[in-house]
Amino acid sequence: MTDQILELTNVRKSYSRGRQVTEVLAGVSLRARTGEFLALMGPSGSGKTTLLNILSGLDIASGGEIRVAGSRLDFMSTGQRTKWRAATIGFVFQSYNLMAGLTAGENVELPLFLTRLGRSERLRRVGIALELVGLKGQAGYRLYELSGGQQQRVAIARAIVAECAILICDEPTGDLDRLAANDILDLLRLLNREEGKTIVMVTHDPVAAGFADRLLRLDKGVLLAESKTAPQ
Ligand code: ADP
Ligand code: MG
Repeated sequence: MTDQILELTNVRKSYSRGRQVTEVLAGVSLRARTGEFLALMGPSGSGKTTLLNILSGLDIASGGEIRVAGSRLDFMSTGQRTKWRAATIGFVFQSYNLMAGLTAGENVELPLFLTRLGRSERLRRVGIALELVGLKGQAGYRLYELSGGQQQRVAIARAIVAECAILICDEPTGDLDRLAANDILDLLRLLNREEGKTIVMVTHDPVAAGFADRLLRLDKGVLLAESKTAPQ
């Protein structure tokens, strides 16, 4: 058993449009250990979201080897990847992607409907997740009763409720002011250090990147040489 949770080797991705082929990832190789917190930066269009989609099994690569949490995603069928993803990956997006008509608690419960857990166990886990993100008393709140930062906490609770090993965050603080952003980054670091979550976070914000253990830079589909980020 290896402690490498991410092992990408020479991953390529291109899109064809008629005769025109656009290469979005041009041979990306990346390793990460279980429990690492990675930041991924790069100009718009450099392939960051594409890379996240491939390592979370939302999209398939055009070539290369992809082993995540011990499984070869490039060998799986779409159905296998969907099942694997539900058990392995939690997602946090810039714009929260919550269901407006539901309460905070109902939003957090959603991923558990993909499991066989009964209602009382679902509610128990929702309670634990909301407590971890500091929203213990807000389960019954509607989204419009919550601030942006609190809504992102709900989204993070939803991402961790199924006890996934990996959190994929695509610009999780992009819509927040500095104060709320730092709160969310503190929370991500807590989940990384205390709960052992492996985190891959895309960000444009150097302060956010400073919360990570390692900084990866993508430029035109190629990973640049790594630099260490200063611990906060
Ligand atoms: P980033 O997240 O770094 O801004 P993306 O991974 O979203 O970059 O996109 C990288 C490049 O891939 C862009 O040039 C984009 O136009 C292209 N791209 C992304 N998805 C598709 C698609 N489904 N079809 C064609 N081109 C795409
Ligand atoms: Mg993107």
